[in-house]
Parts: sequence; C-alpha cells; structure tokens
Amino acid sequence: MSARVAGVASLTMDQVRQGLASHEFSAVELAQSALEFAQQENPKTNAYLQFSPERALAAAERVDKKLAAGEDPGPLAGVPVAVKDVIVTKGVRTTCGSRLLERYIPPYDATAVTRLEQAGGIIIGKTNCDEFAMGSSNENSAYGPVRNPLALDRVPGGSSGGSAAAVAQGTAVVALGSDTGGSVRQPASFCGVVGVTPTYGRVSRYGLVAFASSLDHIGPFGRTVRDAALLLETIAGRDEMDSTSAFAPVSSYVAQLDAKVAGMKIGLPREYFEGLSSESGDLIHKGIDVLRKLGCEPREISLPATKYAVPCYYIIATAEASSNLARYDGVRYTMRCDGETLSAMYRATRGAGFGAECKRRIMLGTYVLSHGYYDAYYLKAQKVRALIAEDFRRAFAEVDAIVTPVSPFPAFKLGEKLDDPLEMYLSDIYTITGDLAGIPCMSVPCGKTAAGLPVGMQILTKHFDETGMFRLADAFEKAGGFAG
Ligand code: GLN
Repeated sequence: MSARVAGVASLTMDQVRQGLASHEFSAVELAQSALEFAQQENPKTNAYLQFSPERALAAAERVDKKLAAGEDPGPLAGVPVAVKDVIVTKGVRTTCGSRLLERYIPPYDATAVTRLEQAGGIIIGKTNCDEFAMGSSNENSAYGPVRNPLALDRVPGGSSGGSAAAVAQGTAVVALGSDTGGSVRQPASFCGVVGVTPTYGRVSRYGLVAFASSLDHIGPFGRTVRDAALLLETIAGRDEMDSTSAFAPVSSYVAQLDAKVAGMKIGLPREYFEGLSSESGDLIHKGIDVLRKLGCEPREISLPATKYAVPCYYIIATAEASSNLARYDGVRYTMRCDGETLSAMYRATRGAGFGAECKRRIMLGTYVLSHGYYDAYYLKAQKVRALIAEDFRRAFAEVDAIVTPVSPFPAFKLGEKLDDPLEMYLSDIYTITGDLAGIPCMSVPCGKTAAGLPVGMQILTKHFDETGMFRLADAFEKAGGFAG
C-alpha cells in the first residue's frame, strides 16, 4: 500500500492537477487513498453501493503512464469521481437502487462515463439513490437510505443523495447524478455542494437508465462551481448513441468564468418566494444582496404557470416511468421469481422486485395513459408543460438569469415525510419547472441555517446558456465565500 495522500477529502480538481504535476502524489496513490478513505467513511452515510477498485486503479495507471511519457493525461487526470448507480458502468454492478437489478452487471458504459474516463477521471464507485431515481430523500433505495454527512439524522436529499453526500463528505472530488425533477439540485442544496442540471440534450443519456425520458438529464456535482463546470464540459456534446443529444457546440465554461457579471439582469419570480421557510428565505435574500453588490440588477418577475408544475410533472413523469419500467419483467436484466404461467412470473417478479414508490408511480402512470384518460391527463399535462416553458421564454426576453430557492426548506429528518408522498412531491415545487422547460439550472451554496444546515440558491438561464449560469454562480461563490 502506497503512502496516504494528505487532505484527500478537500481536494479540488486544480489541486489534483498540481499534485500530479509536482509529483506530490501519483494518480495510483491518489486513487488508493481516495478508495481507502471512501470505504472507511461509508458506514457513516451509506453513500456508496459499490466500489470499483480494479477499474479505478487501471484508470489511474493509464494516467501515470501518460504523465511519465510526457503526454497530456486529460483535464480530469487522476480526479476521483463517484457515479450515481443509475448510470451504467461496464463490468461494475449497476442496481438503480432496486432489488430487481441486484445482480445486474452492464455490458457497456454510459457515454458520460466513457468521456470522463477518456479525460483521465477515476471512477471509485457507484452511489446510492432512490429506486430508479424516484424520490426526494433517498429513502426509497432498496439498499437503505443515505445519511446527510452534515447532519447524520437527516436526509441528503434525493434522488442523487449518494453522489451529493460523497462530494460533501470528500470521498470524491466530483460526482455524476441524474436529474428528472430536481434530483441533482435538491441534494446539492441539502448537502452544501454545487449541483448542475444542464440543458436537456446537452449531455448524452446513453447509458442513463431511463426514468422519464423527456425529462432525464445527467448532471455534475462539485465542491466548487469551477469543478462542476469542468466536469460538465468534459461530458457534454453530441453523441450518435442518443438521438436527443444536442448538436450545439460546447464552449469551455471554465475559460469564461471570469467575464463580468455587473449589469446582469436577474429575475426573481414572485411565485418562488411564497411558502418558503423563513430561514431559507432569509438566506436567499442575503444571497440576492450579494448579487446586487456584484453589480447585478435584480427585479421581480412572474412565472404564472408555476402553480401547475407539480401536478404537470407527476403526470408526465409517472406516464413515462410506467412505460420505461415495463422492461423489468424477469426475462431480461432482472432477478426472477417463479410463477406457474408467464403472467404469474411477471407479477411475482415485479411484485417482489419493485419498492412501494415505484409501484405507486407505475399505477399512476398506467392510469393517466389509459384509454379514455389519455387526453384528460397526459395530453393536458403536455399542454401545461408548454405554458411553463413559455413563461420562461418570456422572462428571458427581459432578464439574463433567474434566481430562486432550490427547496422550500433545508434537509429534513429521516422518516419525517415518508408517510406522506404528497408532501414529498410538493417539496419539488422549485426544481421541476427547470426540467419541464429543459433549461439549464443549478444549485450553488448560499449559507447555512442556525442549526448548520446548508441552503442552496438556484440559478436558471435560457437554453444552452450554461456559460452565463456558471459565470454568475462562480462570481457569487467567490463573493459570498459559501463553498466548502
Ligand atoms: N423528486 C422528484 C421525483 O421524485 C425528482 C426525481 C428526479 O429528479 N429523479 O420524481
């Protein structure tokens, strides 16, 4: 075993690069230290479902070889990365937080995974999540909940709670999550890290296990805006394997971080400041003051269709989920429970394999798609979705960015909302609109409550304006000193 790399828990990507360049540590030494640290910390939070030491060390050896040969090892060289367990990894078990996929070993890699490894990233493990990414607290995982590293009796948020916890805990420098209705931004906010949902189609969904295909995004987590931006620019861009991935060229977000933000017009939608806990509200208002000091020009705007967002999302998302989850039938991928007939086998397998939340959504989704109800629910929800997108289009004709809270409240106690699925759904109110409109949005740390619970501020910009979003977030982070 090689020497332990000091400070592995707080490294940024820049520090990894410098450490490698100055021979302070090798990529293999860093990977070993990161794995050791992550394994030692995991019992506290249950953030990882699986470690991938063989894959990590092989990737680290490739980086060290390139460095020794004087070749460029890539922008993510040696960086320990955690990957949400809904993103497939060749040869490394991928469960989606479900019993059904307890023994599923994917035969291929997701495009985002391929790209981050090509850039020198080191995947140290797969992170816990709500089953098939359905949830807001990580309590729907078949492998037990994740605990918030900042308050172990509280949830880390969901569904990408494992990835957010890993980055907050310092067991990975950055991580990949997925966001369908807030699953990157809300856990980022609860754990005090940066979480990004890019424009729909910006990152290939190839190898992201489908929940609601028209809403699913892969997005990065980091402890700094810069790290999240660098990870995103590495994995973004057109991919032949996903016909919905965008052709729009990817610019270097990091290279444009320092451009000025003074004069940026910031919209504050009044609908997002109602029903907010007073402590979260105070912190967001202080954050807006920081933006004002930076020379930004906040002004109140209105996004009137916001009030329909929760029902609209839970119709579209469950409809698409009921169709996507039909493939888990005991014949392909999954475990199988015996039954006398084919349909008895399906029923037994799906009955034993899916948790309560997935079953609830399959039933809801099947209902809204069923004959006679399709027009009344699904089609209507699609029309409302167009109204929500139109609200944003109108707003972005007047403002450069929109700033809102991420969640009505900070991290709640484990078990607190488990018996009330409706209340859990309502907590997604501020995040689902961004997914429905397909625009880029992110959570950036905005201080902590008196009890030490982090609160995130959400920044949204127009389609493909990740550059403007990151620039504002970076300036805010530097001015506010909220990171870490
Ligand atoms: N909390 C939302 C849901 O339960 C969002 C989940 C997600 O973004 N994957 O559907």
